[in-house]
Amino acid sequence: MTRAVVWFRRDLSLGDNEAFARGSSFDDVACAWVLEPTLLHHAGPYRRRFLLSAVRALADEITLRGGSLTILAGPAVDAIPRFAARIGADEVAWNGDVSAYAQWRDTAVEQALSRHAISSSVTWGTLVHAPGSVLTASGSVPRVFKRFYDLWSVLPLEHATAQGTASFVHCEGDGVLPVDESGPLDASEGAARARLQQFLRVIDDYDELRDRPDRDGTSRLSADLRFGTICPSRVASIVGNATSGRRAFVRQLAWRDWYAHLFCERPDLATTSQNPAYDTLRWRNDRDEIDAWREGRTGYPIVDAAMRELAATGWLHNRLRMVVASFLVKDLLVDWRIGEQHFRRLLVDGDVAQNAGNWQWSAGTGPDAAPYFRIMNPITQGRRHDPNGDYVRAWLPELATLRGANVHAPFELGPLELASAGIILGVNYPAPIVEHSAARVRALAAYQSARRPAGIADEPA
Ligand SMILES: Cc1cc2nc3c(=O)[nH]c(=O)nc-3n(C[C@H](O)[C@H](O)[C@H](O)COP(=O)(O)OP(=O)(O)OC[C@H]3O[C@@H](n4cnc5c(N)ncnc54)[C@H](O)[C@@H]3O)c2cc1C
Repeated sequence: MTRAVVWFRRDLSLGDNEAFARGSSFDDVACAWVLEPTLLHHAGPYRRRFLLSAVRALADEITLRGGSLTILAGPAVDAIPRFAARIGADEVAWNGDVSAYAQWRDTAVEQALSRHAISSSVTWGTLVHAPGSVLTASGSVPRVFKRFYDLWSVLPLEHATAQGTASFVHCEGDGVLPVDESGPLDASEGAARARLQQFLRVIDDYDELRDRPDRDGTSRLSADLRFGTICPSRVASIVGNATSGRRAFVRQLAWRDWYAHLFCERPDLATTSQNPAYDTLRWRNDRDEIDAWREGRTGYPIVDAAMRELAATGWLHNRLRMVVASFLVKDLLVDWRIGEQHFRRLLVDGDVAQNAGNWQWSAGTGPDAAPYFRIMNPITQGRRHDPNGDYVRAWLPELATLRGANVHAPFELGPLELASAGIILGVNYPAPIVEHSAARVRALAAYQSARRPAGIADEPA
C-alpha cells in the first residue's frame, strides 16, 4: 500500500491540479490544508473571504467524492511533516510558490519530511510554465517582456493532470476553518469554470474591449488564478490562439508568469526599485493627499470612482489600476510601495509578484517598465476608456446628474452647468487636489533629477 498527502495552498481545486493528480496515483490519498493565522490576517478582507470560501468549496468537493479535507493548525513547517508522519505517508505533493517566504517554508518542509523518509513532489500547476523554464542563454529570466514572451509562447502546454484511482483517507485535523462574517464569495472550481465560459462568449473582442471598465470585456478570473480555483495552463489551452482577441488574452497570462518568474529570481521585486537610478527619487508622500487618493476624494472622477470601487469590492479593472497608480506615483509623487501595500491589502486577487511587478511598471522603476515620462492624464483616460461616463456615474452618485463625458472633468464646466447639476465643487464633490499639468511638470523634474546622478540621459518627455 502506498499513501500520499496532497497539501493544498494556492491550488484550491481538484480538476487540472497537478499535485492532486500526483497524489491520486498512490493507493490512497489524504488531502490537507493548513490554517496559518498570520497569513490569514495579512490577507485583507476580500482575499480572506475568497480564500475561506474556496477552501470550503474544495472541502465540499472532496466530501462529495468520498473523502475529507483535513484542516491542520499552522505553522506548515511543523504541521505538514507531523501529519504526514502520523498517517504513514510515503510522499507529500504540492504545487510550488514563488515568494521568498514560500520558498523558505517549502524547503524547510522538504527537509523535515526527508528526516521521516517521506519524499516530496513539487509541481507548478499554478503557473502556465514553471519558474526556470524561460531563461536567456546566460540562465536568467529575461528582463524584457517581449523576449520572455517569445520564449514562453513556444513552450508546449503540458501539465500532468490525469487523475489516478487512489481511495481517500479520512484523517482528524487539529484546526478549524474560520467562518467569515461577511458571508461566502462565489469562489469555487465550478464558479471559476462558469466565469471562463461566460468570458468565452466575448473573448474574440478582448483586444478591443479589454481597456473599457464600463464593459464586461475581461475574464475576471484573477482571483481564481490567484487561489487556483482554475488552472492557468488549462485556461490557455481552452482559449487557444485562433483570433487576435484570444492571443491578446493568453499574452496577459504570460505577463502573470513573467512577474512570478522574476519574483522567484529577485525576491526584492516587492521592496526595491529594480532600476537603482530611482533610489534617490524624492517622493513627497503627503499624508493628506495619500488619504484623499485612498478614499476617492482627489477631485478627478475616474480616480475617485476607481478607488471607491476598490474599497467597496476588492476588485478593479486593469486600466483603472494603471490610471490610479500613475496618479499616485506621478501626479502626487508618492512612493510606489505605499500604493502597492494599499492594493495588496484590498485586492481580492492581491498577489505580491503581480502587484509589485505592476506597481514598478507604473512607476517606471521596474524591468521593462513604462517610461518615466509616461504620465497618464486622468481626464483623457476617463474620456477614452469610459466614453459615456457610465462607469464613473455608477461609483460617484454625487456626479450622477452630469451627462456623458462631462462627468470626467466637472471642474471644466461653467458655474451654470454645475449649478443645474446640483454640484458645488469643494462642497459635495472635491475640487482637484492637484492641477494635472503642473503635477506632470513636477514629476518629470523629480524623475529627471534622480536619473542625472545615475548618469542616465534624459529621454524626450
Ligand atoms: C498597479 C497594478 C496592480 C496590480 N495588481 C495585481 C495583483 O495584485 N494581482 C493580479 O492578479 N493582478 C494584478 N494586476 C494586473 C491586472 O490588473 C489584473 O490581473 C486584472 O485586472 C484582473 O482582471 P481580469 O482577470 O479580468 O483580467 P484579464 O484581462 O481577463 O486577464 C486575464 C488574466 O491575465 C493576468 N493579467 C492580466 N493583466 C495582467 C498584468 N498587467 N500583469 C500580470 N498579470 C496580468 C491575470 O491573471 C488576469 O486574470 C495589477 C495591475 C496594476 C496596473
